[in-house]
Amino acid sequence: MAARIDESPTPYHAVATAVRELEAAGFSDAAPGETPAVGSQYLRRGGALVAWTVAEHHNAGSPARVVGAHTDSPNLRIKPQPDAGSGPWRQLGVEIYGGALLNSWLDRDLGLAGRVVVRSADGPTTRLVRDNRPLLRIPQLAIHLDREINDKGLLLNRQRHMAPIWAIGDGPSFGSYLAELAEVDESDVVSYDVMAHDTTPSALTGLDEQFLAAPRIDNLLSCFVGVDALLAASSAPGSSIPMLCLFDHEEVGSVSTAGAASPLLGDVLDRIGAALGGDLESRAASRAASLVVSADGAHATHPNYADRHEPDHQIAVNAGPVLKINANQRYATDAETAAVFTLACEAAEVPMQRFVNRTDLACGSTIGPISAGQLGIPVVDAGCAQLAMHSAREMAGSHDPAMFLAALTVLLSA
Ligand code: ZN
Repeated sequence: MAARIDESPTPYHAVATAVRELEAAGFSDAAPGETPAVGSQYLRRGGALVAWTVAEHHNAGSPARVVGAHTDSPNLRIKPQPDAGSGPWRQLGVEIYGGALLNSWLDRDLGLAGRVVVRSADGPTTRLVRDNRPLLRIPQLAIHLDREINDKGLLLNRQRHMAPIWAIGDGPSFGSYLAELAEVDESDVVSYDVMAHDTTPSALTGLDEQFLAAPRIDNLLSCFVGVDALLAASSAPGSSIPMLCLFDHEEVGSVSTAGAASPLLGDVLDRIGAALGGDLESRAASRAASLVVSADGAHATHPNYADRHEPDHQIAVNAGPVLKINANQRYATDAETAAVFTLACEAAEVPMQRFVNRTDLACGSTIGPISAGQLGIPVVDAGCAQLAMHSAREMAGSHDPAMFLAALTVLLSA
């Protein structure tokens, strides 16, 4: 898991990592207009990916079993005209993507990665770029210049306090740096989506390596457990079509062509149905019997802040998958989908935990409710327990991914 997360500093790289693994297992690219009825295929759109296996025994009314997750994590994204600075310092202007814990980005060695669109004879083409050198740093203000910080807390202004330093004195612009990284002339760089990532390698930590310390655990952990579950289910599919859908833009509301509010997954379901000779009736039958598992991180009970958690629903790491429930539909789980997940954990012989938020605190959300509204397919929200969600470096249990995988494999193989 650690190596796959480190290979995936951006949503585009996460999709590339997943595609490499799927292709190694025989999955092929499903270009629009040519969806063979039977086989293992994938479709990518920017930072999003859908993959599935249709077997000989499936028909147009076959339900789908989908693991849904998201490839994006809160981070710092380079502005379009980023060259900035104060005095001799050269800095980069950044936008804050999603609900980042800003303090967690301070005093870290940051690399740069993303995608660059370059001019070519065939029109604009997209290249992935990744520079894992420690290029950027946002130094904290010394305590001598902010004596009250430990008593009054750290207040960071997104515009004034988050611009990373990357050089001093004269030197090349960000544009010329990026052109060199993309191996093109600067005039051939048309546009880019580039973001910062922590260059510290992920690690197994704690006594007996019981924990995983890594960036982007929310939600690359679910993405790669989902890849493994799809591969396991594809080797012996049941009566349902096993599928994986990794969306982008969950952390900013999911409304985009690659987000859970897009028609991406619904379109693939319709294409599979059409390739199997389906009509509106078989479509309705398939969707009514399908299930989406919205796989995303769950809050473990923090030992130093136990009062922020629901006292009668304590969640631990290395204690099995977490079923997430919210009466106000911030999670899409209902009694019926909860039962399916609970029985899958029983069949996989893994323990399961039930999470609800404190009633007096606002609850986070996932792709679950959006997928349910978009597709009309029942959804269950579940995931692995973790701490420090949305920090530049998060923490999870090192034994939970295998237990979650066992449960998801049961679900996708049904
Ligand atoms: Zn998440």
